[in-house]
Amino acid sequence: MALKNKVLLIILDGQPWRDARRYMGNLEGWVQSGEARVWKMRAVLPSTSASCYASIHTGVTPQQHHVVSNESIFRVKQADIFSQVRAAGGKTGAVTHSFWSEFFNRAPFDMVRDIEYDEEDSPINHGRFHTMTGYGHKNQMTPSDADLFATLTMLTERHKIDYGILHTCTLDSMGHRFGHDCGEMDNACFAIDAMLAHFLPRWIKNGYEVIVTADHGQSDRGHHGGRGEDQQDVALYWFGGGDGPKEGVLLDQLQLAPTILSRMGAPIANTMKAEPFLK
Ligand SMILES: [Zn+2]
Repeated sequence: MALKNKVLLIILDGQPWRDARRYMGNLEGWVQSGEARVWKMRAVLPSTSASCYASIHTGVTPQQHHVVSNESIFRVKQADIFSQVRAAGGKTGAVTHSFWSEFFNRAPFDMVRDIEYDEEDSPINHGRFHTMTGYGHKNQMTPSDADLFATLTMLTERHKIDYGILHTCTLDSMGHRFGHDCGEMDNACFAIDAMLAHFLPRWIKNGYEVIVTADHGQSDRGHHGGRGEDQQDVALYWFGGGDGPKEGVLLDQLQLAPTILSRMGAPIANTMKAEPFLK
């Protein structure tokens, strides 16, 4: 079975809709020039990172997969994007927080064994992870986003992955530290937008369709987990083909997994009940 398309999913942790639309000048420039489309997407509840990561990849709610907090980390039972792409014969890669390796490959995370692996038979074939051990208010412990983007680019060119996810916690950590109405956040968005803009055209030139989105938003005080447009609503930028919904349609985060699989021509698991938003 040959896959129809290759897809990269970029998750900018904790970037709310309002910040994306105001501060991501390169992404917005591509929307303005017609090279990208943008919709609003609403995260699951709780709008907690781990819960959202698991829902983004499985297409089921936290009430179903049971990842209800950042403290409930285990190998998730449901089928997910990695397992479905593998079932279709595709190669997968991840450049993310180590939670992804635990949810979709194996748990607990063994820092030496699992920090980096290339495994032919695993759901995640090419994993490059970081743990953010020691993360806190005074020290973000996040890698440089340019390093993460370069690592993903390496996986696309050296290992020819069909599906790749990249997750960066920079903006979420900045939001928890500084909130959103401040120069620190303006600059953080400006910096990550420019770093992303350096690599994104290369991914497209290499034949990938690309989604740039977030796992959840944040309140102005830098909080998330609960209900509300500020905590739940994020931008979803699409660089690829297919017919999407009209501008202004609110997407559901549970649509992400079946949408990616249908773009790729991989089987949608029967647990993924939401409709793909790209036809
Ligand atoms: Zn998060």
